[in-house]
Amino acid sequence: MSAQQSPDISAEFKLRVLRDVSMAKHTSWHVGGPADLFFTPRDAADLASFIRQLPPDVPVLMVGLGSNLLVRDGGIRGAVVSMHGALGALERLSVTRIQTEAGVPCARIARQCVKWGLGPAEFLAGIPGTLGGALAMNAGAWGQETWRHVVEVDVLDRRGFRHTRKPAEYEIGYRSVKGPDNEWFIGARLEFERTPGVNTEAIRDLLDKRRQTQPIGEWSCGSVFTNPPGRHAAQLIESAGLKGFRCGDASVSEKHANFIINHGRALAADIEALILHVQRTVEKVHGVALSTEVRIVGAPA
Ligand SMILES: Cc1cc2nc3c(=O)[nH]c(=O)nc-3n(C[C@H](O)[C@H](O)[C@H](O)COP(=O)(O)OP(=O)(O)OC[C@H]3O[C@@H](n4cnc5c(N)ncnc54)[C@H](O)[C@@H]3O)c2cc1C
Repeated sequence: MSAQQSPDISAEFKLRVLRDVSMAKHTSWHVGGPADLFFTPRDAADLASFIRQLPPDVPVLMVGLGSNLLVRDGGIRGAVVSMHGALGALERLSVTRIQTEAGVPCARIARQCVKWGLGPAEFLAGIPGTLGGALAMNAGAWGQETWRHVVEVDVLDRRGFRHTRKPAEYEIGYRSVKGPDNEWFIGARLEFERTPGVNTEAIRDLLDKRRQTQPIGEWSCGSVFTNPPGRHAAQLIESAGLKGFRCGDASVSEKHANFIINHGRALAADIEALILHVQRTVEKVHGVALSTEVRIVGAPA
C-alpha cells in the first residue's frame, strides 16, 4: 500500500500498527500475501480504541491462529487484528461456568477445564485455534460443538462499542454462525458439567486418535470441506481417486483426503485451484457439491 493510500491512523496507534505484514506467517497453511495494516491489541479496551479511530471505510478482519483461513496471494486490504497472544484471560466464575477472552487457545481451555473437573471440554484440545475462531466457526469434534456450551458472548461492533449477546441472537449450524454484521467476539461465558473423574489422559487419547488418522504436524487447515448431510467429505474425495492429487506444491493428503497439505512452497493460488479441482471432480463422480469449511479471504495476486 502506498503512503497516499494509507488510512489515517491516530498518533496513539501509529507506532504499533505494522504495515504490509505477510499473512503466510499468521496462517497454518503458511500462505497468503500482505495485510495493509496488522495490529495486535493489548486488551479489549485497547482493541475498542483501535477500532474506533480507524476510518469507517477501512475493512477489518479478525484473525485467531489462522488455522481455518486461506489468504489469497494478493493479501488483505484494510486492517487485520490478530488475537494471537492477546485477550488471554481465562477464569472460573462458578462451579460449572467459565469466562474466557477470545484470544485464549482452545487447547488451553480444554486443559484448564480438566484441571477444574469440568467437561466435556476435551474436544477443544485438538482444535488449533482461539476461542474467537471457535465461536466464529462453531468449531467442534467428536460429536461436540463450541456453541452448545455458550451462555453469552461479548462482542465489539465497528464503532468500538461493546455488547453482550445470547445464543438466541445467532443462527447457529454445523461450522456456521450468523449474527449481526461487522461484530467480533472478544469473550464468552461457557457452561460445562462437573466431571470429577476427567483427567488429562482423556485429552491424550483424543490427540492420539487424531495423530493416527490426520496429517498432524504438516501445514494444513484441517478439514477443507464440510461434510454434506449424511456423507463424509473425506470418503467422497478418496473414492473419487483424489488422494495425492497435486497442484504446484499443494496436494490432497494421502492420510486424510479432506486435508490439503502445503509441502513448503505452495501458493494460495495452488491451494485454491486444488480446492476447485476437488469440488469439480467430486461433483462429476458423485453428483455432490462440496462446500468449503475454510474461509477464503483477500485479493488474488
Ligand atoms: C490440524 C488441524 C485440525 C483441525 N481440526 C479441527 C476440528 O477438529 N474441528 C474444527 O471445528 N476445526 C478444526 N480445525 C480448523 C480450525 O482450527 C478451527 O476452525 C478453529 O476454530 C479456527 O480458529 P482460529 O482462531 O485459528 O481462527 P482463524 O482461522 O484465524 O479464523 C477463522 C474465521 O474466524 C474468524 N474469526 C477469528 N477470530 C474471530 C473473532 N474473535 N471474532 C470474530 N471472528 C473471528 C476469522 O475472521 C475467520 O473468518 C483444524 C485445523 C487444523 C490445522
